Amino acid sequence: MSQDRTMLTTLWSETDGVLLLRSVATAMVRLSEVGDPGAYTLPYPDEAQRALNTTVLTCLLLKAKPPESLPELVEWAAKRPLDQWPGTLPPDVVPPESRFLDEATRQPTALCYEWAVDAEDSAARHSEQRYMAIASQRCWEENYPEAYRAFRLLLTRRPVLTHRELATLPAAADGELGPLGDLLYDVYRPAPSGHLDRERRSHISCARCHTLLHLTVGGDLWCERRRCRELGTARRGREYPVDDGGGAQLLIRPLRQWVSATGALEERLAQRLAAAGADVELWPGFGAYGIRVRFPGGTTLAVDHKDWESPALLGRRAVPPQPDPPYDRCVWVVPAARLRKNPDFRTTFEAYRPSASPELMTDRELLRTARRLIGTTAPGLRDTAPDPGPDGEATEGLF
Ligand SMILES: [Zn+2]
Repeated sequence: MSQDRTMLTTLWSETDGVLLLRSVATAMVRLSEVGDPGAYTLPYPDEAQRALNTTVLTCLLLKAKPPESLPELVEWAAKRPLDQWPGTLPPDVVPPESRFLDEATRQPTALCYEWAVDAEDSAARHSEQRYMAIASQRCWEENYPEAYRAFRLLLTRRPVLTHRELATLPAAADGELGPLGDLLYDVYRPAPSGHLDRERRSHISCARCHTLLHLTVGGDLWCERRRCRELGTARRGREYPVDDGGGAQLLIRPLRQWVSATGALEERLAQRLAAAGADVELWPGFGAYGIRVRFPGGTTLAVDHKDWESPALLGRRAVPPQPDPPYDRCVWVVPAARLRKNPDFRTTFEAYRPSASPELMTDRELLRTARRLIGTTAPGLRDTAPDPGPDGEATEGLF
């Protein structure tokens, strides 16, 4: 590790701006769990009170005007770009114009979750690790990799279930879910009221990614996934009437962000690599990493898809996974669009990473690497033509 990297890592947890943003992010995530934004009452959740205290103290030390209440702190989170919050931040830590809450829905942004899991005391609660580790452990103990894979596929393809589906799925899946049937009740929860179209008495899913759309303050529909929003206005998918099938059950947010969204991209990437002649296994070793890719020449890659807003926070987590099953190189794949939008993404990631592995590649770079390792231009590896998305819309490259 270079001296600069050591300094960045050492100073990280002692920097007032980092402590503040971690605290506020944790509070915003917690508030979104306990009710609709704006509906909170005294006493506030501990995390929210702590964030308010931390913000007020930081402001007073800097002789800045503090927020006077929790609702005002929430307004800050929705309207104030993170680089304008009080306190000092290490370089390039927050993307420009980024916020913790979406302004139209007051829902936590993906970046808000990234900051929340950077805080050690809330990481376990707000990351996907807690439930995926349970699933992995149970399937490992019963030597049941098919169940782990079925669970992962379900979370990837069905972020929303009806209550009836939730109740009948473990049996209907012909035992595929094995020891994980009861875990479904922990990871799927009744859909929050903010997603409910009250006139139609229905929850509406996104036609692109299948998670539930959220109503904005203006009455429009909004998808939490950046990729869907970039494709245009929200497209209505399946409706889940509240009076039919027991209503909608929604996968909890950390699993939507880090398992469903990631899994969909890893599935498509695996299909392209398999079609080209690589030997591909999704979520090997009970989820040790995303895709194991073996090439005819003998090289084996461990590939994880990482679509993070903050290259600094992603870089801080850059350690290679356990080599079980073994691999030669580890690659983290970032959408090419992410790097186009933020040309400093790679540099910032490199500055904050604690180890030289994993390598960072775009989806296109991985395909070029695969082409070189296979030594052919097999049709599955062509990366120049637009790729039809799951909803039939052309998307650039793989993603
Ligand atoms: Zn969507």
